[in-house]
Amino acid sequence: MKPDSSTAAVHVPRPSACPGLWRVVPAKDGGICRVKLPGGLLSSVQAHAVVAAARNHANGVLELTNRSNLQIRGVREESQGALVQQLLDAGLGPRHADADDVRNVLISPAAGRDQAAHLDTRPLAEQLLALLQDVPAFRDLSPKFAVQLDGGEALAMLDHPHDICLSALPGGTQLAFGLAGCPRGDALGVVAVDQAVQLVEALLRLFLELAGEHTRMRQLLAELPAQVFLARLSFDFQSVTPGFTSQASDTAPLGVHAQAQPDRVMLLAGAPLGRLQAEQLQALADLADAEGSGELRFTPWQGVLLPDVPAARQAAVAQAMSDLGLLLEARAPLARMLACSGSAGCAKAAADTKADALRLATHLGPHGPAQVHLCGCPRSCAAAHIARYTLLAQPGGRYDLYRREQGLAGFGHLLATSLDIDQAGEHLAAGNSE
Ligand code: SF4
Repeated sequence: MKPDSSTAAVHVPRPSACPGLWRVVPAKDGGICRVKLPGGLLSSVQAHAVVAAARNHANGVLELTNRSNLQIRGVREESQGALVQQLLDAGLGPRHADADDVRNVLISPAAGRDQAAHLDTRPLAEQLLALLQDVPAFRDLSPKFAVQLDGGEALAMLDHPHDICLSALPGGTQLAFGLAGCPRGDALGVVAVDQAVQLVEALLRLFLELAGEHTRMRQLLAELPAQVFLARLSFDFQSVTPGFTSQASDTAPLGVHAQAQPDRVMLLAGAPLGRLQAEQLQALADLADAEGSGELRFTPWQGVLLPDVPAARQAAVAQAMSDLGLLLEARAPLARMLACSGSAGCAKAAADTKADALRLATHLGPHGPAQVHLCGCPRSCAAAHIARYTLLAQPGGRYDLYRREQGLAGFGHLLATSLDIDQAGEHLAAGNSE
C-alpha cells in the first residue's frame, strides 16, 4: 500500500506537544516539523526533497532526533502547507493522514548490514509499521509510544527504554520480548519471528484496554505488575527468559564498520549537537549516490550512517564526511555531548545550551568525560536516557552539575551548583567529577 498523499496539507492533527508532519509546533526560531523515517532510512532522492523543503519553507536547519527521525526547524507559518505537500510528494508521509503519530518502530541503523545480527529486522519492521498505521484503534496511542525491534546488531542503541521491545535470539527464528524497557533487557517471554506481529497486536490491544489515563507502558506497569498484565494476554508465548550479555555504552560507535556484505563498509558519523544544515544533507545525499547505494540512515545517536561503501573507498569517504563537519571519532569532545535547543530555540530554556556546549568542548580533550548533556530545563528533551553527566541550566544561565548514579532518581548525584560554563568545563576536565 502506498502512502496516502491525497490529504495533503488540509489534515488537522490531534493536539499534542510533540511535533508531527502536519503538527508544526511553534518555537522561538519558527515552526518545528517532524518527519518520521521508517527505520531511519532516507533515500538520496528524499534527502534532496527535504533539503528543498528546508530551504524554501524554513530556515535550513535540520535536527536529528534520538529516535532516528528528522526535524525541520524554522518553518514559516505561511509555508506550512507547501512544506507538508513537498514532503508527502517525496513519499515521507504515513499510510493514512491520522496515522502519522504512531509510526514508532525503531531498528538498528545497521539492520541488514551488521555482521553480528541474528536477523534482518527490516521486513518485520515494515509489517509492524503497517499494523500500527492500519488498525484505527492504534491511532489512540501516544505519539511517544514505541516498539523497538533489535536484530542483535553490534551497532545498536541499548539504553533507551521503549514500550515494547523485541530482540532476536541466536539462530534468528525467535524473538525475546519485554515491556517498558531496553532491548536485551529483562525478557518476559519468547515467540517465533513469524508470530511477532500477532504478539504485538495483542499487546497493543490489551494496553489500550487497560491503560485508562496512562499513555506509556511503564506508567501502566507501575500499577499492574507485568506478569499480571501478561496473564490477561490472549496470546500463547514461551515464558522462558533468556539472558543477554551486551552492555549499553555511553559513546556512539562512530567510524568505519565492516558489513556482512563482502568488501563493503558502513560509516557512522555524528552530527555536532544533533544538527545539520541543509547544505550538509545535500552533500551527504550526493556522497551516498557516488560512493554508496543512495541510502542514508539516521541513527539514535543523532547522526547518520552511510552504508554500502566499497572497502577500498573508506578512507576517502571518511575524509569527505569529516570535511563536511561530521564527527567520525568517538574521542572528539563534541561527539560526547548532547544539548537541547536552548534559549535560541526554546522559550523554556534558562541558557543557550548549544552555544555553551561548543564552548564547553574547547575545555575537554580526547580523554575528557563520557557523555555530557546540557539541558535548558528539567524536561530533558535531547536525551531519552540519563547521560553520565548532566548540566542543568538555572535562571541566569548558570548550571548545576549532576553525575548519573545507580539507584538515584532524576539526573543523579548533584556534584556542584551554579557553575558558569567555563567553570563547568574546568570541573569536568580536571576529573573532579569521577
Ligand atoms: S529541555 Fe527544556 S529548554 Fe531544552 S528544548 Fe526541551 S523544553 Fe526547551
